[in-house]
Amino acid sequence: MSHPVVAIVGRPNVGKSTLFNRLIQRRLAIEEPTAGVTRDRIYGRADWTGHEFWLIDTGGLTFEEDKISREIHRQVKLAMEEANVIIFVVDVRSGPVTLDYEVAAMLRKTTKPVILAANKAESPNFDMSEFYALGLGEPTLTSGAHGLGTGDLLDEVAKHLPETEEFPEDEEILRVAIIGRPNVGKSSLTNKLSGTERVIVSDMPGTTRDAIDLLIERDNRKYLFVDTAGIRRKSKVDEAVEYYSVLRSIRAAESADVVLMLIDAAEGVTEQDKRIAGIAHEAGRALVIVVNKWDKVEKDDKTMDAYRDNLRDELAYITYAPILFISALTGQRVQRVYELIDYVAEQHALRVKTSRLNELLEDATAVVPPPSKKGKQLKIYYLTQVRVKPPTFSIFVNDPELAHFSYIRFLENKLRETYGFEGTPIRIYVRKRS
Ligand code: GDP
Ligand code: GDP
Repeated sequence: MSHPVVAIVGRPNVGKSTLFNRLIQRRLAIEEPTAGVTRDRIYGRADWTGHEFWLIDTGGLTFEEDKISREIHRQVKLAMEEANVIIFVVDVRSGPVTLDYEVAAMLRKTTKPVILAANKAESPNFDMSEFYALGLGEPTLTSGAHGLGTGDLLDEVAKHLPETEEFPEDEEILRVAIIGRPNVGKSSLTNKLSGTERVIVSDMPGTTRDAIDLLIERDNRKYLFVDTAGIRRKSKVDEAVEYYSVLRSIRAAESADVVLMLIDAAEGVTEQDKRIAGIAHEAGRALVIVVNKWDKVEKDDKTMDAYRDNLRDELAYITYAPILFISALTGQRVQRVYELIDYVAEQHALRVKTSRLNELLEDATAVVPPPSKKGKQLKIYYLTQVRVKPPTFSIFVNDPELAHFSYIRFLENKLRETYGFEGTPIRIYVRKRS
């Protein structure tokens, strides 16, 4: 399931970042950081009375002084395209300034809900009348620094969040997300994949501008390509604005079973690719790495192997993902994509009986005995699979402290050697047997 997006906009120094941190605070404390995402604290997941959403803080970005006005306009325009709800922050102590009126004029044109947050309102000595002149209705009084009014603000946000619209959960339908940097060929691949097949395009109300779900039937199987970007039309704004494109990938990966991670063959793996791959990995989805634009690469009979080796080095923590070289332009090997989707989806849902697992455990511990620390040896009582998608195991031991990660990694490798689990992450939880 993918969550709606709420963007915080406003000129610098009105307190956006402080408010952002306040709104996501509760979550940050309990959530594991997603690689590279919470790092710069531009996105955060918030939840309020059962509504979960992504919060974007455009204040986390810094601009050069002389470009502020232009950049703010750009940010607001992006937010109007990409977000479901917009929080416009103004400063009650300074009163509205020219830039606030400019932003308000832009926001009055959107059909998306806009909530005006009159911030820094910790003491009551200010004149509110001027803020009504912004034409955005009644302001919600907040103080990010003091944590005042944030509940009211979240109530307002929650009122406007779309009902989570979803295709019905259907075991028969495989949900696939195509993710990757702008221009890597996502739309081209989607078009090629849907080429001769029956295509049902469905507009998803209330989601981002051009996020649509695409249902494709092929050989009596149904594939739902989720949050497919850019099919209807291309964004007029520069799509390279990294935070929205990364957020898109996160949302698509969240709502899929299988993720196709696209890499541009001519450009190789970039830092942003690594971040996006990390997202798929942490989301626990089945993963195929698709090297697109293979037609652009000059090659001989060794090029593909060398390319693959290099990719394995660059993306060292996802060695499980199969790699496919395609050209969405010429259609080369594009139909193989379906075979790999089917294959990794099956591996993702693989379940192994406890009796088999314990045979494996016995063999493995006979070859490499469990480690010990300070004279105490790790004892493994048993191993059992507790979930699929991704395959998740619990291993019951005498003392979890003794279960060094290298030994857990060794067991993971044994599981992979024996059962494959190709294209899927594996989770292993170490538990103390009580
Ligand atoms: P941004 O540029 O809009 O993200 O603003 P910041 O969150 O970085 O805050 C700008 C300045 O305003 C900082 O000096 C904050 O300490 C201060 N500030 C933020 N929130 C409040 C508030 O609720 N009340 C007061 N009095 N000051 C605040
Ligand atoms: P998206 O932003 O990821 O959806 O990328 P697009 O599908 O819009 O593709 C971006 C550009 O790359 C377009 O000009 C495509 O024609 C081009 N392109 C896509 N796939 C290929 C490919 O396999 N080979 C070559 N040479 N160009 C491609």
